[in-house]
Amino acid sequence: MRFPLKLNIDLTRYLVSNKLRKVEKFPLVLMLEPTHLCNLACSGCGRIREYADTLADEMSLEECLGSVDECPAPVVTITGGEPFLYSRIHELIPAVLAKGKHVYLCTNGLLLEDALDRMRNHPNLTLNVHMDGMEATHDRVLEQKGAFAAAVSGIRKAKRLGYRVWTNTTIFKETDLEEIDELFTILKGFGVDGFLVAPGFGYEAVGEKLFLERREIERKFREVFELSKRHRILSTPMYLRFLMGEKQLDCTPWGNPTRNPRGWKAPCYLITDAHYPTFREMMEKTDWSRYGVGRDERCSQCMMHCGFEPSVVSEVGKSWKDMWEMIVWNLS
Ligand code: SF4
Ligand code: SF4
Repeated sequence: MRFPLKLNIDLTRYLVSNKLRKVEKFPLVLMLEPTHLCNLACSGCGRIREYADTLADEMSLEECLGSVDECPAPVVTITGGEPFLYSRIHELIPAVLAKGKHVYLCTNGLLLEDALDRMRNHPNLTLNVHMDGMEATHDRVLEQKGAFAAAVSGIRKAKRLGYRVWTNTTIFKETDLEEIDELFTILKGFGVDGFLVAPGFGYEAVGEKLFLERREIERKFREVFELSKRHRILSTPMYLRFLMGEKQLDCTPWGNPTRNPRGWKAPCYLITDAHYPTFREMMEKTDWSRYGVGRDERCSQCMMHCGFEPSVVSEVGKSWKDMWEMIVWNLS
C-alpha cells in the first residue's frame, strides 16, 4: 500500500464526516512553519526571501500546539525553514503525534543524522527529505557542498532505525529526468518508501528564471509519468494527469493552510496577501473567489500540489473511474 493504512482510515473518516456535515471548505494538511530559520540558502527558496526580516523568529511550543488544535486537518507537515533548527522540535513532534495527527517532517537532511539520536519512531511519523538530484546537482541547487552526503547519511540511518522515509524532489527547468531516475534507483536501494515530485514555481519573492511555466511543466511531467511506472511516486495519478495537461482542476487554496510566526498565511502556501491571528479568521475573512487560475495573475502559472492535490480529493468522489484508479494506485 502506497500510504499507511492508518492514514487512509483517518483521512477517509475525516472526509466522510465533512461530507455528512456538509462542510464545503475544510483543510487536509496543516503546513506548520515554527521558524523560517535555515542552515541553507537554496536558489529556489521563496521562504527565506519572503520572510527575510523575521527569519530568526519562532513560534512558541504553545502556539504550535494551539494551531494544531485550531485546524482540524488530520495531517500536520512540520516544515520551515529547517525544522531541526526550531528550539522545541523534539518536544513538538511527539506532542503533535500525541494529538492523534499524522506528521510529515520536511527537512533538508543536514541535521537529520544527529537529530535521530533524540527522536523516537512512531507509526504516524514520516520523514520527508529534500533531494533535488545526484550529488553535484543537489549540492549546486542547495548551494552547499556536502548537502547530498549529509542527507544520504541521515536517510540511511533513519531506515536502519525503521523510520518511514520519503524524499521530495523539485523539478526545475534544467532538471534532467534521467538523473532523477538514477537518484530514485539509489534511494530505493537505501529503502526509501516513496518519492514526492513537485514542479518548481516562481514564488513572488524569488523571481528567478529557473522555474517552470505551465507548458514546460506539462512537457516535463510526461517524463515524470514514465518514471512513475518504475518508482513509487506519491503524487496521485489525477494530479500527474493535471500536470501533463490531460485533466483540468480548480485550485483549493484552503486545502493546505500555512501557519508561521507571523500568523495564518492567506490565501495559500505560495502567495501572501495577509496573515491572520486565528485559523477561523483566515477561513472566514479570505475572499476565496479572488484566487485561482484566471482570477489572479499570480496564479496563472501555478500547478502547485498544495493547491491542486486537495482538489483531487473532491474530484475523485465524482467518478467511479477516478475512484477505481485511486484505489488501484494506492494498493500498488
Ligand atoms: S532548505 Fe528549504 S527552507 Fe532552507 S533554504 Fe532550502 S528550500 Fe529554503
Ligand atoms: S493557484 Fe496556486 S498561487 Fe493561486 S491560490 Fe491556488 S495555490 Fe495559491
